[in-house]
Amino acid sequence: MQSDSEPKSEPKPEQGSATRIIHNRRHKDSLGSPYSPVYNTTTYRFPDTASLQDVIEGRTPGNLYTRWGSNPTIRELEQGLAGLEEAEDALAFASGMAAISASLFAHGRNGIVCVGDLYGGTQELLTKHFQPLGIPVTFLLQHEPEQLADALNKPGMLVYCETPANPTLGILDIQELAEQAHAKGALLAVDNTFASPVNQRPLALGADLSIHSATKFLGGHSDLTAGAVMASAERIKPIAQWRKNLGQILAPETAALLSRSLRTLPVRVRQHNENAMKVACAMADHPAIKRVLYPGLPSFPGHAMAAQQMEGFGGVLTLEVKGGREQAAKVADNLQVFLLATSLGGVESLVSQPCATSHQGISREERERRGITDSMLRLSVGLEDAGDLIADLHQALGQL
Ligand SMILES: *Cc1c(COP(=O)(O)O)cnc(C)c1O
Repeated sequence: MQSDSEPKSEPKPEQGSATRIIHNRRHKDSLGSPYSPVYNTTTYRFPDTASLQDVIEGRTPGNLYTRWGSNPTIRELEQGLAGLEEAEDALAFASGMAAISASLFAHGRNGIVCVGDLYGGTQELLTKHFQPLGIPVTFLLQHEPEQLADALNKPGMLVYCETPANPTLGILDIQELAEQAHAKGALLAVDNTFASPVNQRPLALGADLSIHSATKFLGGHSDLTAGAVMASAERIKPIAQWRKNLGQILAPETAALLSRSLRTLPVRVRQHNENAMKVACAMADHPAIKRVLYPGLPSFPGHAMAAQQMEGFGGVLTLEVKGGREQAAKVADNLQVFLLATSLGGVESLVSQPCATSHQGISREERERRGITDSMLRLSVGLEDAGDLIADLHQALGQL
């Protein structure tokens, strides 16, 4: 009988990430369950007004109201998320965009300088909402140190980037961006969704905020929508205020589902990396393919930088089909194992044509300026047998 016994071992810093992720939240309860129950509750009762007051005024720890983030299931998830990137703290959100918007409100009001390609939703948030609010936002197509130095024209600004970026998989040097931002009194936020914490830890490279759409690799099964931010306790605090007042908390049930997904994250991501590399190599010399964009290929322009700052190259790659928009659409339509759907990071492989989906809202000229062509197909390589994925691509390309 294991009643209320202390966990035998706490995770240790020298242990590998998979061990630490699995043992990070060793729960103790009277039934001996290694995992916590799901606290599907919005509020918490107190024995008397004095004890409620103590919690509200911060004299004693305790839970008050789930929207504020005080829910044991959500806190346990956040402990797991922080552990993924060895961060002091983390916050979980109802979506990736909730995590991004709260982070930008909390740390970007003095001005935001974006470097490189951005997720379409982030671009839209900045141009349709932040700029009309009078918040200065600058977009730099790539990291040009002089331009960035000029754009950081007052203290307290925020540099924001994604690496690898969508859909060109462009790689930015996180360490260099962090140094440049800090030299100008700015912070650096990195959207780490494409890499996942298994392949890349921006905080360890000097970034101040690491942001995720947990809908993608962290969730990993295309069955939940959530977001996350990892940072120091000092940087997390103002973001938590925005989350509370914008009402961006996720449901405890979703938090429990995401906690479960985190336990298999290392093994899933390693397989995504391996499968994507096999698919990239198989496509690299296919006669119907013009170009394969994948950070793991030595021919890829960002390969050396990616090899330096990433532990794996991720599960997303982009193919440029010979021909134009119609040829690429035909390949997407002919694929049978790859599902035609936006999103990424799930166990199933997906294909999407950026010009028709994620980048449909951007003008053709702007897409071209960013190197996004009509014949690109973005693949999220899942956990199927790599041979079946490659065979599927061969049959779809063979019909051109
Ligand atoms: C999907 C995605 C987002 C937005 O996340 P949601 O969970 O859909 O809100 C942000 N950044 C990147 C890189 C993404 O792929």
